[in-house]
Amino acid sequence: MKLFAIFGDPVSHSRSPLMHNSVFKNLNYKACYTRVHLKDGSKLRDTFFNLGLSGVNITVPHKEAAYEACDEIRGFASKVGVVNTIINENGKLIGYNTDADGFMFAIEEFGHVENVLILGAGGTAKALASRFLQDNINVDVINRSEGRLSYFKDIGCTCHTWDNFKSKKYDLVVNTTSAGLKDEELPAPLEIIESVLNNTNFVADAIYGKLTPFLKLAQSKNITFKDGADMLLGQGVLANELFVNQELNKEDIKKHMQRSFDY
Ligand code: NDP
Repeated sequence: MKLFAIFGDPVSHSRSPLMHNSVFKNLNYKACYTRVHLKDGSKLRDTFFNLGLSGVNITVPHKEAAYEACDEIRGFASKVGVVNTIINENGKLIGYNTDADGFMFAIEEFGHVENVLILGAGGTAKALASRFLQDNINVDVINRSEGRLSYFKDIGCTCHTWDNFKSKKYDLVVNTTSAGLKDEELPAPLEIIESVLNNTNFVADAIYGKLTPFLKLAQSKNITFKDGADMLLGQGVLANELFVNQELNKEDIKKHMQRSFDY
């Protein structure tokens, strides 16, 4: 029996155990997936080996620490320095990022997108910004503090703090901050949020399982929006494929993960 987990702080909200266990159970794959409340990201590697894990997902706020903990980084994760999936390959930790492609899957229904505003500058924002630029989408980023913006400037995003922001027209505004996850905060002061919502066609939030204050405001303005559930599904399918080493069919994984949303 293989053991998998999600590491995060907070982590009790995570639906990943339900999703992955639904796949393992329905496809008779001998594995179990649990939650680990990891407060200190520097203990990630030791915790992984002490628990005898075969793989993990990593959520807020440890995705950058997860990158540091790996012996080898593959694919898109090496471009962004952000890891949300780790596989134990013969005692070596191999890091991947499935968030960015998971998000692109989630916004397919919005159609063609040219201008995006990302709220927040953490690990998820990095992955999404790089992925958007790869598709030649213009990316603006706004964060409450300046320090984390340098990465985004370097890769070609237009960057703002709350002090110097003036809204343009956007096709899509995405909240990647953790504001609203465990509190009722907006991702930026109300006047900023009002101005971006008045200038966008679509809104998305990486947070799932609740209508955040940001999404509530979008809803009150009749803007088409989605929470992070489809992103969760997209990144989860890709992570599960890595966990089972492609022994399972992607469409089967997706079907059983979707079923777990009904529980
Ligand atoms: P990080 O900790 O790396 O980044 C958090 C960001 O949020 C930082 O830019 C931080 O700003 C900002 N922030 C935190 N609190 C506030 C606040 N009260 N007001 C304004 N800004 C704030 O987190 P991650 O990128 O790993 O995750 C971000 C969110 O995305 C989480 O809620 C996570 O659950 C969700 N997520 C969902 C996924 C899904 O599958 N649906 C996948 C990945 C993430 P500063 O730099 O100033 O500290």
